[in-house]
Amino acid sequence: MRRITPSEIRRAFELTPQITFEVTEGCNLRCKYCGYGELFEIASHRRNRALPWFKALSILEYYRAMVQRSNVGHYGREVFFSFFGGEPLLNFSLIEQVVGWVNRSGIDRFRGVKYSMTTNGLLLHGHEEFLVDNGFNLLISLDGDERASSYRKFPDGSSSFALVKKNIDGLKLRHPSYFEEHVKFNAVLNDRSSVGGIIDFIKSEYGKTPSISAINPIGVRPQYAEELDMMSVSVADSISASADAGEISNSMGIQSPFFRKAFDCFRGHSPYFYRGYNELLYGPSATIADLLPGGTCIPFSKRVFISAGGLIMPCENVSHKFALGSIDDDARVNIDFDELAQRYNAYYDELEPRCARCARNKSCSECIFHLPHGGDCLRCNEFASHSEMDEEIGRYYDFITSVPKFVEVIGNTLEFR
Ligand code: SF4
Ligand code: SF4
Repeated sequence: MRRITPSEIRRAFELTPQITFEVTEGCNLRCKYCGYGELFEIASHRRNRALPWFKALSILEYYRAMVQRSNVGHYGREVFFSFFGGEPLLNFSLIEQVVGWVNRSGIDRFRGVKYSMTTNGLLLHGHEEFLVDNGFNLLISLDGDERASSYRKFPDGSSSFALVKKNIDGLKLRHPSYFEEHVKFNAVLNDRSSVGGIIDFIKSEYGKTPSISAINPIGVRPQYAEELDMMSVSVADSISASADAGEISNSMGIQSPFFRKAFDCFRGHSPYFYRGYNELLYGPSATIADLLPGGTCIPFSKRVFISAGGLIMPCENVSHKFALGSIDDDARVNIDFDELAQRYNAYYDELEPRCARCARNKSCSECIFHLPHGGDCLRCNEFASHSEMDEEIGRYYDFITSVPKFVEVIGNTLEFR
């Protein structure tokens, strides 16, 4: 299996599709299942910090210098400047500063520039004009109707549903075409909701199909594991339990766990999957020697995530102890591409003996940072033998032959890694 090079990581940084700013750790809600909340270890490390402007500016200038020097063509390449929290609108002034700087920066000569934000919707009213004027893609967190959304509470324990809904309805009324084009929803499935119920509610109110995720248990404090487990429902189980499971999968498209897993499986294992015209003309090139062990993304290939404390992370789902770099208090950006390549290659050295024998290695989605670290050895419990993998592929063949829409969904919504 192969190893990663510093230049590959540098190139991923130059071409990153997203730079995400965690503009604040503060939030105006206390959602019971929140991965930053009291049930999770990380709560004790969060101190309501806000990302200072000088740190945001440092990484913006660093990125601009990189893309200006880059010899990688930019045709059709876009970068999203994204805002995350906590609730990002609690630090609106920083969002305004970043957007103002980017709009004047000239980055749009090298990349298509777009903006996006994940928000709980509580402060939408009052910032609508700014979001609309800058064409923000909004991902609004809403778990469905009032009961389904009842874990999303204010600090005093009261429900946030009515105010959030009022703000969303107002946005839709005042800016219908923006709403149509730029607003999406994400729901967290819980024991007070079902996938079918969430889709019905958001479709009937707003004409959209939400993405739906399960409660993420990574980092739960051991004493709260049972409580979290009681709230949790798997998306696949909720769909299977429904009388119209096929219909639900169809309407979720590639968001459906069945579609997603089947797609990942065929992308890795089908002899008829081509990653571009070269492979179509000259044949797929991926042999085991071309694969990296495990399924972790190449650093920065998904995003550059800047934490409120100024750490540079591969995404928001990784513990800060695995930071890829930092912005220090004298505004210096520290990213050592050589050290990163060495560090990742040390992880790969540990994984390879298992991954090289694993029949899942062409479709692996296991992130190194979520694998249990036992002693010095990274252990993966998803190892598959060839007979287990053949059985799994057979199940996906049965699935796609029973749901012909799968092929259409792949054609329409495919995202390449
Ligand atoms: S969870 Fe792992 S593989 Fe996924 S984006 Fe984050 S670092 Fe990459
Ligand atoms: S499933 Fe586990 S053992 Fe198999 S390739 Fe992925 S990380 Fe390696």
